[in-house]
Amino acid sequence: MKEIVLASNNKHKIKQFQSMLTNYKILTLDEIGFNEEIEETGSTFLENALIKARTISEYLKSKGLEYDIIADDSGLCMPSLNGAPGIYSARYAGNHDFKANRDKLILDLKGKDHKGYFNSTIVLYHPDGTYIYKEGKTYGEIIEEERGDNSFGYECIFLSDNLNKTLGEMTLEEKNQISHRARALEQLKEELN
Ligand code: IMP
Repeated sequence: MKEIVLASNNKHKIKQFQSMLTNYKILTLDEIGFNEEIEETGSTFLENALIKARTISEYLKSKGLEYDIIADDSGLCMPSLNGAPGIYSARYAGNHDFKANRDKLILDLKGKDHKGYFNSTIVLYHPDGTYIYKEGKTYGEIIEEERGDNSFGYECIFLSDNLNKTLGEMTLEEKNQISHRARALEQLKEELN
């Protein structure tokens, strides 16, 4: 089975990617021995995904390894907040605390439109430095009451337009039909195959 490196240690993302990339064995950052924090200093999802991909590509080279890399940068975008939290979704409340981020979001949305979308930008990065990328979005609205699994980001307060459930209430199979990540990856898969 062909191996590909995923530039993430987020267990939710790893699970989603592995369930969609069934022809590949995904190698996580832990598995390739990379354990540093990658600073996301870009100003767009694409820039941040490329920062992750290039950092890992350099690391692999330094170890004499050559793999294709998949890097995803994602976030929740609320038009009524001028696109926030956007690329700052993971640290919206100042640190990487999902619950604090959700609380801040609900507070900031008081009196404002609750419709928004998740964006995922996924880069497929080759050892020679060439890459392609695809973007996927999924639409819904933020609700105040948490519904379903509250262990990943904004999932339990994001009510999907497609399935009338929060992302936190969906099975992995349901998420794979409608999620921003699944939609981006679906397009990339054509290139992978
Ligand atoms: P990053 O792509 O790892 O930089 O993380 C972006 C942040 O956006 C995550 O920490 C979550 O807060 C949020 N996010 C991105 N995708 C999802 C998702 O599928 N469900 C819930 N939250 C998400």
